[in-house]
Amino acid sequence: MSTDEIVRRLSELNLLSSELDLTESDRNKMVQQVSVYANRFISGLAQVKGFSERKPGSLAITNQKISLAQLLDIYQKEVAETGINAASGTHLGYIPGGGIFTSALADFIAAVTNPYAGVYFASPGAVTIENEVIIWLKAVFSFPASAVGNLTSGGSISALIAFTAARDKYGVKNERIRQSVVYLSEQAHHSAQKALRIIGLEDVLIRYVPLDDHHKIKIQALNELIESDIAHGLHPFLIVGTAGTTDTGSIDPLNEMADLAAKHNLWFHVDAAYGGFFILTSKKEQFKGIERADSLIVDPHKSMFLPYGLGAVLIKDKTAVLHSNHYAASYMQDAAANELVQSPSNVSPELTKHFRGLRLWLPLQLHGINPFITCLEEKLLLIHYFRQRLSKLGFSLGPEPDLSVSYFWYPFKSDADEKNKQLMDAIHADGDVFLSSSVITGRYVIRIALLAFRTKKETVDKAVAMIQRCLEKIK
Ligand SMILES: *Cc1c(COP(=O)(O)O)cnc(C)c1O
Repeated sequence: MSTDEIVRRLSELNLLSSELDLTESDRNKMVQQVSVYANRFISGLAQVKGFSERKPGSLAITNQKISLAQLLDIYQKEVAETGINAASGTHLGYIPGGGIFTSALADFIAAVTNPYAGVYFASPGAVTIENEVIIWLKAVFSFPASAVGNLTSGGSISALIAFTAARDKYGVKNERIRQSVVYLSEQAHHSAQKALRIIGLEDVLIRYVPLDDHHKIKIQALNELIESDIAHGLHPFLIVGTAGTTDTGSIDPLNEMADLAAKHNLWFHVDAAYGGFFILTSKKEQFKGIERADSLIVDPHKSMFLPYGLGAVLIKDKTAVLHSNHYAASYMQDAAANELVQSPSNVSPELTKHFRGLRLWLPLQLHGINPFITCLEEKLLLIHYFRQRLSKLGFSLGPEPDLSVSYFWYPFKSDADEKNKQLMDAIHADGDVFLSSSVITGRYVIRIALLAFRTKKETVDKAVAMIQRCLEKIK
């Protein structure tokens, strides 16, 4: 092609390729449409059901262009109105959160400006925000300034980073794997076992530590297991404590676990994915010892009510983290290591990443921390309110929870498991609020997790009315 031909062809291509770069007027129109949609969605939340069993219709990508207006309709019907309505206060299953609006705005700004948040040099501003969020988190959990951290997509990836650091610090590889021991609670989140498998530790020995009546790790039992393993020539290296279990809302005896970890020279990991930010509430005392953890994970997309996609990991041993995430790390002096940990890509498997720090930084700057704390206190009180109301209806309840997750079952005279399962099915079919089930100490139970920022007294009243209505059908 001659230069003239190239220039002509480029101008033809430009006509079409420029469609991706909207004009200001089109941008305004679209933002307006999305804003109207978002407002309609949010104002409608109080009326919609927490759960719909309807399956979505086709969402296939075709070669036809579809207008934004039509797409928003399709989105509403096939996405927003199917499954669990996780943005509504009526999501009381699994671990909810909600998705605060100011965080959505931060995502919008992050996506429009698209700074490269993986490497300090590329966007010192974005990376500084990521690091300020980590600094804030270290202060919340009384971690030393020398600890490192990373903002991840969630608790599972955070656990992966933490366990990899533990693995590398203790040299758990090759033939040593089969002799290495990890201590977990039955109530530990399944992402722990999953992370171990992913990082090549499928064959480590996992000891499930006996639990007390409140589903917490028994310290004496843990100590005996460790001592027996050491006596048998095995290599204990990792203890996992949970600060807020998913099923029962219990906090393990973190301080005593930290003592044992120190005594036996083990890595102490705390999974605070769900419960972490309750440390800011009246429950602070129960978190004693969390600051002694070698690694800690926490999910702002749970107890900070952010939209899904923000977890965090804090780790004290810099060298261990850099070992797996930065190739030259083990040869680095402290000063150099400080520079290395400045870039998120050296502390995480990710290189190019979503600039996710902004989605926590912006809401914290706009609202301050107090509304978040108040929201958590509200949930702590609501779980008591719920339990008192269910107890009056004749339900049996799990033990007093440390945080805002609890469980219950109806003491049917016969076939209790089967009938409680029917009750759960009836609750799902009703869908007014969403609850989930579990099996705890061999019994089929229904769980309630109060965490979403939109969950209020009215929501709990609605839940109780629904449970009562569904119970009548089974009885
Ligand atoms: C949710 C949860 C996880 C997993 O976190 P994701 O963000 O879903 O990956 C781990 N541990 C606990 C206790 C949790 O509640």
